[in-house]
Amino acid sequence: MTKTGHCHCANVSYEVSAEPIRMAQCHCEACRRTTGTGHLVQAFFNSTDVKIKGKTSNHKSTSDSGNIRTRHFCPNCGSRLFSFNSKMPDIIGIAVGSFDDSAWFKPEVILYNSERPAWDIIDETIEIHELM
Ligand SMILES: [Zn+2]
Ligand SMILES: [Zn+2]
Repeated sequence: MTKTGHCHCANVSYEVSAEPIRMAQCHCEACRRTTGTGHLVQAFFNSTDVKIKGKTSNHKSTSDSGNIRTRHFCPNCGSRLFSFNSKMPDIIGIAVGSFDDSAWFKPEVILYNSERPAWDIIDETIEIHELM
């Protein structure tokens, strides 16, 4: 089933022709600050299965494990969209809230639970990691 999505202003859109390889919810400091909320939820795909239309801006930072994380966002409306990790350059993470329909999403793992704000309530039945 093809999945489609776009940023808030729709200057950047995308199409995914595969099911996610992994689905995760992360509460690390970078995810909290770049989303302005308690966590980021992402679905990961092979980048060959994702077609992107429009131009993003990006910002790079080094993760705790020493890998470079590149986060792409819409330069016009600022929506967080895609991320890449230098450790797995062929994998793209897509911010789940940007999909037109994300009813299929269910996080398989919760990351950086140790940095989760107390007000951000989680589903305790999901696999939980205190860090990565
Ligand atoms: Zn936009
Ligand atoms: Zn994170």
